[in-house]
Amino acid sequence: MFGLRKLEESTEHTGSYYAASANWATDYPRLEVDLNCDVVVVGGGFSGVNTALELAERGFDVILLEANRISWGATGRNGGQIIGGIGHDPERFIKKIGEAGVNAIYQMGVEARDIIRERVATYGIDCDLKWGYCDVALKPRHMKQFAEWQEFEKSIGNPHTYTLLDRDELREYVRSDRYLGGLYNNANGHIQPLNLCIGEAKAIESLGGKIFEQSRVINLEHGDRAKVRTEHGCVSAKQVVFAGNAYLGGLIPKLASRVLPSSSSVIATEPLPEELAQELVPGDVAVCDPRTALDYFRLSADKRMLFGGLSNYTGMEPKNLETVMRRKMAAVFPQLADVRIEYAWSGWLGIGLNRMPQLGRLADNVAYIQAYSGHGVAPTHMMARITAEMIARESKRFDIMAAINHWPFPGGKLLRRPALAIGMAYYKALDAL
Ligand SMILES: Cc1cc2nc3c(=O)[nH]c(=O)nc-3n(C[C@H](O)[C@H](O)[C@H](O)COP(=O)(O)OP(=O)(O)OC[C@H]3O[C@@H](n4cnc5c(N)ncnc54)[C@H](O)[C@@H]3O)c2cc1C
Repeated sequence: MFGLRKLEESTEHTGSYYAASANWATDYPRLEVDLNCDVVVVGGGFSGVNTALELAERGFDVILLEANRISWGATGRNGGQIIGGIGHDPERFIKKIGEAGVNAIYQMGVEARDIIRERVATYGIDCDLKWGYCDVALKPRHMKQFAEWQEFEKSIGNPHTYTLLDRDELREYVRSDRYLGGLYNNANGHIQPLNLCIGEAKAIESLGGKIFEQSRVINLEHGDRAKVRTEHGCVSAKQVVFAGNAYLGGLIPKLASRVLPSSSSVIATEPLPEELAQELVPGDVAVCDPRTALDYFRLSADKRMLFGGLSNYTGMEPKNLETVMRRKMAAVFPQLADVRIEYAWSGWLGIGLNRMPQLGRLADNVAYIQAYSGHGVAPTHMMARITAEMIARESKRFDIMAAINHWPFPGGKLLRRPALAIGMAYYKALDAL
């Protein structure tokens, strides 16, 4: 066990490897006037930036308001792992959304990754995009799960390759004695997420959209034209989209009650010698295991080990974050036990009770997107696309997601964290069996 502390936050980026290797430091102005537009988007992570970008591409006059810096939240702090799929087990909602709805969600899960591929190509975004991914097994039952996934991906017509690997075959991609085997696919991959997001923000600007940083929305006024206010300005718009996710706080109580800000942490080592990097992850793939409190890792473009984990419902991080994460990393790669750790950081991801992204409307002209439950790099791009399609009246895909019910966490503000922590302890115990 370890002592916990609150995440230290300022309105500038956290001290991550990503902020240190950003292509440029965004410096958009603060909103200090009253403006009008077609659509105002609140929140400058992948969800908000891509909603604004999809709309700007369709010719809408958009304004994006970010409380801190573009990509300041989960988007600029994550493991950078591009993973397909939208939420978990959409069949659970078949009564609400029908078989067509379930299939549409599966297809969105495939399309999500292609959006990133397109963005990088269309706007020439430099974000170290690499394809290739290994799920790794710690128990024989994980191999059984992987075989089922492989069949499932075939059944939904995923055109990419999924290959089961035994212990020896896995060594072509990942060399750790910890794993019994794995499932390789070339559908998933990895990126420097902060650079992807600021590249997408630049694309909004290039299409005439306006971006404001250090501009926290503190009030929403409903009406034919809805208004959002910051401390120093106001935007009146035909449509508003809230995409503040786990960082939106209490601004909209309905949204706050349905998302639990949970933490996860990442470390970045010093750049490793080329031979050592090759010895550890010769396939340069992103890797994760299937546990509730999973390990996820990959090499950065400059050959650092980026090792993440410690997902938990307290919303806090260990006081000795670096030591705890070093121990986890050394359990996978003993060769890294004494390597220098140059960055260690944590962030909040939005967990929802049923583990499906939450999309919906607070009014006819006020929509929201949140709660990817730890798996949002690709799904944010997809949810942003269908939100723009809804506003442009192009498709009904938003309505499929919006038809799924999302209940508030039981226990209110005070008790929901302890209740979930007990739940997580239970699943961790099952993982250990
Ligand atoms: C440590 C960590 C590791 C992760 N690893 C992975 C991974 O490897 N793969 C994966 O798929 N997913 C991962 N995730 C999850 C993924 O990062 C998120 O699902 C995704 O980035 C969510 O994007 P978002 O835009 O919805 O939210 P965020 O990126 O959190 O953005 C919300 C933004 O809204 C702004 N905001 C909030 N309130 C207001 C307001 N009132 N006014 C204006 N702005 C406001 C915030 O400042 C913030 O910038 C990880 C998350 C964390 C924290």
